Amino acid sequence: MRIILVGGPGSGKGTQAQFICEEYKIPQISTGDMLRAAVKAGSELGQTVKSIMESGGLVSDEIILELIKNRIQDSDCEHGFLLDGFPRTLAQADGLADMSIKLDYVVEIDVDDEEIIKRLSGRRVHPGSGRVYHVDFNPPKSQGLDDVTGEPIIQRDDDKVDVIKQRLDVYHQQTEPLIAYYTEKAQKDPSLHFVSVKGIGSVEAITQKIKVALTV
Ligand code: AMP
Repeated sequence: MRIILVGGPGSGKGTQAQFICEEYKIPQISTGDMLRAAVKAGSELGQTVKSIMESGGLVSDEIILELIKNRIQDSDCEHGFLLDGFPRTLAQADGLADMSIKLDYVVEIDVDDEEIIKRLSGRRVHPGSGRVYHVDFNPPKSQGLDDVTGEPIIQRDDDKVDVIKQRLDVYHQQTEPLIAYYTEKAQKDPSLHFVSVKGIGSVEAITQKIKVALTV
């Protein structure tokens, strides 16, 4: 199963990705997590992308495509994967198409901007693993601590309101065109399905909607 999850910042992609990946036993490939790991490690890549990420902008398509190209060659991707946060531009979608990967589903999680801004203030992540929580909607078992490791969970710098607004602008301008792109592609290719679910309600209800959508 090869799945792309598309949605704005704070649409619940990361949270839903975890559930889908458990269900289908496929790895979650999050370019955001990969880039954050590079920043944390202080690598050359990390130093290049740090300020772009902090400002809410997009890292260059060349860098992202190189990351993805290498990652999907790993052996755990043999039977599928879920792409979370990639592609984010039409150029990245074209780059993925050039890799001749057969995609099964493109799932959009659709949430309006106002709701996204409300939600993001409560988002917390475990930096080591990328596990995502929400103080109200998906709280950890112990307040402020990751369920698996017991380590502290944090608020990302790019989850602050002014950065969120910038990221929403970038999403509408650069990423939203992918909806039309994949809708059209799915109309021409019967093995590719484009589905859109409203990302409103409990985490479990949205997971359920996605599971149903993935049987279409
Ligand atoms: P995310 O965790 O997916 O919201 O990504 C956090 C940040 O990493 C984004 O705001 C971008 O700066 C950068 N980023 C992640 N994925 C991509 C991508 N596919 N293309 C460009 N920049 C990306």
